[in-house]
Amino acid sequence: MQQIRDTLHGLGFYPRYTEDELDFQFQKYIFDFLRKKYKTIELPLTTDDLTLLIENDVKNLDLYSDLGEDIEGETSFTKNEKPSVGISKMLTDSPDMENRYRMTLAHEYGHVKLHNFIVQIKSKFSQKCKRESISGNTRSDWMEWQAFYAGGALLMPIIELKKIVSPLLANNLNRLEIITIVANKFKVSTQAAEVRLRQKHLTI
Ligand SMILES: [Zn+2]
Repeated sequence: MQQIRDTLHGLGFYPRYTEDELDFQFQKYIFDFLRKKYKTIELPLTTDDLTLLIENDVKNLDLYSDLGEDIEGETSFTKNEKPSVGISKMLTDSPDMENRYRMTLAHEYGHVKLHNFIVQIKSKFSQKCKRESISGNTRSDWMEWQAFYAGGALLMPIIELKKIVSPLLANNLNRLEIITIVANKFKVSTQAAEVRLRQKHLTI
């Protein structure tokens, strides 16, 4: 982890992590949680377990937030408190958006675990997350990129991802087949699976 000058959020500096650091950090969170609860690691993480994991680290998780038109998640930081997370009720109430809901939860968990250092600099800070930064591989805002990457690393832990994909590549499955298998295995959208596979150079 390196300290880099921040010019976007008025923080003075921010910690820059490598992809490997984020992969191992977020894999550990999920593996530790599952081992403690079930004594074994079975994926996909259920949506109930995903909310439980977050609840362990926040003051409040509001799954029915009214966040405004294009905001799908929000993490708020207050000095001397655990962060609070809000998820747009639009996602929570829509069964056909479950994958998007899961990725938004995982993204906000990224903010919770990575960005609480902000309260050392500002006593209050709120990060509002739009659809495009939750689903897109954006590098224009380091804070959104870190949470985006962390979301994928949490739901598709690197060790499990490689375990699934290696035999598929060896058996010459095509790109679309691999993406579909990964999306189903980890209960994420095909778009999220595709981005994660591309990030980890795991597609043909
Ligand atoms: Zn965000």
